[in-house]
Amino acid sequence: MTPEKLFHELLGLGLNWEVIESRFERESGTVFLEIRETAKLWETVRCPKDTGYAFCYDHTEELTWRHLNVFQHRCEITCRLPRGKCRQCGHVFRVRPPWEGLSTHFTKEFEAFALLLMREMPMSKVAEVVGETDTRLWRMLFRQVDAAYAQADFSNVCCVAVDEMSVRKGHEYISVFADLVKKRVIFATEGKDHQVWHSFVTALETHNGHRHAITQVSQDMSAAYAKGVRDTCRNAQVVFDKFHVIAHANKAVDEVRRAEVRLGGAGVWDALRQSQWLWRKNPENLTEKEQARLAKIDQKSLRTAKAYQMRLVLQDIYRSANATEARQRFRVWCRWVRWVARHQPRNLMRSMVKVAALVEDHLTGILAHWKWGVTNAFMEGLNSVFSATKRKARGYRSTIHLIAILYFVAGKLRLPQF
Ligand SMILES: [Zn+2]
Repeated sequence: MTPEKLFHELLGLGLNWEVIESRFERESGTVFLEIRETAKLWETVRCPKDTGYAFCYDHTEELTWRHLNVFQHRCEITCRLPRGKCRQCGHVFRVRPPWEGLSTHFTKEFEAFALLLMREMPMSKVAEVVGETDTRLWRMLFRQVDAAYAQADFSNVCCVAVDEMSVRKGHEYISVFADLVKKRVIFATEGKDHQVWHSFVTALETHNGHRHAITQVSQDMSAAYAKGVRDTCRNAQVVFDKFHVIAHANKAVDEVRRAEVRLGGAGVWDALRQSQWLWRKNPENLTEKEQARLAKIDQKSLRTAKAYQMRLVLQDIYRSANATEARQRFRVWCRWVRWVARHQPRNLMRSMVKVAALVEDHLTGILAHWKWGVTNAFMEGLNSVFSATKRKARGYRSTIHLIAILYFVAGKLRLPQF
């Protein structure tokens, strides 16, 4: 068997195409496979406009497609693609070769391989490994994701979570919508105001879903999202997500710590120095070193320790057996926080009091957790999805890059699409 015949078999070209030359260029370490159409091709080519028969009109310039390596050597397919002309309408069109992927520079097999790498490593690393420019790889990913996303079906979506993800630290956000039943990201868009809900229901309904089929929405306590839900989905009950409630308390603990440091006093600076990470953890997650540190701190006099204790109690309320018990405990908690705060100098615990007010104002939505609690776990998972997304898109922090990666890693799309 000639090398050309062998490559013809390996590529599975069939009767319509043939490898006319294979050569190895030593300097660049590249295997080139030159392919040409056979006369038989014209028996199957049809006009894309009216499916009329076509004949060969002319050929394009020589084009190249990156293919899978031959052993360790880069391999490129070259071909002057035939252009057909329709016998019926006279339309001239480029014949699409069977090896071409969704991007014009790669073969299907190469795209599938690159996508496999993209699942495992950041884009910059993939570019380095396969020796392609990141621009080409991104373009390929966009096309794959767009094609697969266009086919996604949202007809059974009823429980939705929405959360914001920062594009760059502190400013520029995207809102991410997830299907809590199938545990997948279904939509993401720029911004975090109520308008994102309108964009979401539009996307939902483009993919066979329906806005009034949505019965549960898990989200943070942002007024903008709440307005968005009210405006668009009349049957949706809002559940304020547990992790966001606790995050507010965590932030308050940190604010108390900073206020206390500012206020100073005997031993306070020493006790609180570089302690912020200590207070963000749960006692059971502390390392031995951290536990020792916490034990050394004189907790009785420290307001930060008191605030930390409040956070732990708040968190523990989520272990309540039912909403009635939880309601009772939330109320007791709010009273306790206010009582303790009243006896502190300089309003030191005002941030904790703010959390109490927040809890009271949003109690119905917070208690809805007990009705719908089961599906809430994915909200926590979203955070790890966000960090995985940012890791993969490292160095390419733009909205479109992040959304493409989000859909790619968490959209449960059918990829690759050819
Ligand atoms: Zn035609």
